[in-house]
Amino acid sequence: MSSPTDASRYEVMQETLTELRAFDAEAGTRIGEVFELSVAQNQDLGGVYIMPFDDDELAERGLDFVPSLLSTTDGEFLVTLPTELEHLTPLMTGALSGRMAVHRQIVAQSRGFFELCDAANLFVAHELGHADHDIREIANFGLEEANRRHHQAYIEGMRSLPLGTETTQAMVYWEQNTGGYQTYLRRTGIDDVAFEGRLRQNVAAYGEIPMEAYADEFALGIVRQMYPPADHGV
Ligand SMILES: [Zn+2]
Repeated sequence: MSSPTDASRYEVMQETLTELRAFDAEAGTRIGEVFELSVAQNQDLGGVYIMPFDDDELAERGLDFVPSLLSTTDGEFLVTLPTELEHLTPLMTGALSGRMAVHRQIVAQSRGFFELCDAANLFVAHELGHADHDIREIANFGLEEANRRHHQAYIEGMRSLPLGTETTQAMVYWEQNTGGYQTYLRRTGIDDVAFEGRLRQNVAAYGEIPMEAYADEFALGIVRQMYPPADHGV
């Protein structure tokens, strides 16, 4: 396996940082800082691309409207960043009120409030946590075996969820009755209220999936550095 030289990795990282700082200046986010702190923890993360995508680009490519980690089978990583941060709103009552409530609390204690740009910082940190995990797996097991392990862990993780899929995905499936999803669940006795309950259980169960717990923990480390407790001293 060829590894990029330190010089080329540094160059890629600087390019990414320049783009992120431009994005941050406009969106009010601090993604550049998330990236720098992550690289300080694992320098191999410097080779991860983080790219803003607008709604048209996301739709065209069939990508999620929340930050996501994409990887190629040859070990390249890309974190997608939606330029429209309103897409993160459903996560305020989802992940950010459940398994990531502690992250949100740290931000709120530091700033006195929590807004969508903070959520964006947090979710990018989470995605870089996934990249950190994957990169370590590749180092430990080699690319092919790491890919196999990742796929296996993903399948097992989804199977462990009460709704059988990620929460935001389940919400879309329910609303649009994708493949008869809602029809099927209703037939098993799940009405709107019961479904709401299942969504909450799903969020909690999702955080228990080992690779998600790892990414949440990684994000927690970054968030603690970025959002120190407010100094209310005199
Ligand atoms: Zn995740």
